[in-house]
Amino acid sequence: MNYDVIVVGGRVSGSIASMYASKNGANVLMIEKHQEIGTPVQCAGGVSDSFFKKIDISPSSEYTLARVKGATIYSPNRNSVTSKNKILKGRILERKNFDKNLAIQSANAGTEIMLKTTVKGLITENGQVKGVIAKHLGKILEIPAKIVIAADGIESNMAQFYGLENRFKPKDICSCAQFEMVGLDVDPEMMKFYFGQKIAPGGYAWIFPKGDNRANVGLGIRSSQGNAYHYLQKFTEKLGGKKVEFNVGAVPIGGPIQKTYGNGLIVVGDAAGQVDPVTGGGIHVSAECAKIAGMVAADAVQKEDYSEKYLKNYEKIWKKQVGKNLEKSLRFRKIFDKLNDEDINNLLKSAQNNDIDSISKLSILRLLKGYPELLKLLRTIL
Ligand SMILES: Cc1cc2nc3c(=O)[nH]c(=O)nc-3n(C[C@H](O)[C@H](O)[C@H](O)COP(=O)(O)OP(=O)(O)OC[C@H]3O[C@@H](n4cnc5c(N)ncnc54)[C@H](O)[C@@H]3O)c2cc1C
Repeated sequence: MNYDVIVVGGRVSGSIASMYASKNGANVLMIEKHQEIGTPVQCAGGVSDSFFKKIDISPSSEYTLARVKGATIYSPNRNSVTSKNKILKGRILERKNFDKNLAIQSANAGTEIMLKTTVKGLITENGQVKGVIAKHLGKILEIPAKIVIAADGIESNMAQFYGLENRFKPKDICSCAQFEMVGLDVDPEMMKFYFGQKIAPGGYAWIFPKGDNRANVGLGIRSSQGNAYHYLQKFTEKLGGKKVEFNVGAVPIGGPIQKTYGNGLIVVGDAAGQVDPVTGGGIHVSAECAKIAGMVAADAVQKEDYSEKYLKNYEKIWKKQVGKNLEKSLRFRKIFDKLNDEDINNLLKSAQNNDIDSISKLSILRLLKGYPELLKLLRTIL
């Protein structure tokens, strides 16, 4: 067993990074601790239309269940505004099928996959990563590689084994809980978002349609604010329908970690905090960064340069592509954190009176007219 690249984690970041490393000539092993790729699900599956183009993958009906055209947003006092803005158009993925499909595409590109194998540590020599120590069915294995890509999610150990700081503070983590429900009376083309301290403090609740009266119904709350499951139980009490699946998970919403590379190491996806801090959406950003990670790793293999000086290219490219948007989104999130229920009620009322479908800098400024402190903060961003 001698690999150019080992990818730890086999979901969206891991499969895309390994696929692009393999496609570009590297000899790749992807290691996943679960026995099956894609389970347990920890996602609502919402992605925008632009997502597929960015990673050159077509939206097959095998894993896209619904096509959504917009969303209705509810304020704490249950007023609502409906928007069909193009940023809300997209698809709802069946993540189990999507992740498995990505792993199949990666395997077809040449990646070897080891399942039910947990990476326990990194092999390092003089600060250079040289492979991983893994446990497979009770057996400890040392697997050498020139580069390790850490795509091991929010609970990532790989970055920390190397000495990179990627522990997210509780205020920067959203704890999520979700049911898949059937028999719901939902519009198959519209998502629903609900805000309010009593519904989802520091976050929001969602209903994402999956066709045939099925939907992912979930919520995320700031992890310091209690138990997401209890809020979800309350939220779903009066919805009707039946629960057929339950998922929990957490999302880092504090922006990317300080450094996403090292000697022989690349960190990607949730492990690197590559998630939109306002929406908590990570599929899109993770996938874009993972594609870059795989390509830079394959380049490094060709050039036989696994130093952090070379792998820094990964960070340079992802920052150029998505860095500014993530920074902007984090600043927006910090503004939203300051809003109380009454503010949200007022903003939504104001949105009802404005043309929300043509959201622009100007309309946001108009919405925030009654909030001088927020407006001041916002002016530093826009
Ligand atoms: C409830 C919920 C709803 C969400 N909804 C959306 C949404 O609608 N749209 C959106 O864009 N984003 C959403 N997200 C965020 C999105 O799911 C993540 O950002 C995305 O899945 C990150 O992918 P990843 O591959 O980086 O990490 P993960 O999906 O966390 O994958 C990490 C993988 O690494 C494996 N692993 C970890 N440690 C090891 C180890 N030591 N050895 C071997 N394997 C290991 C894990 O088993 C896992 O398979 C949601 C998140 C949650 C929790």
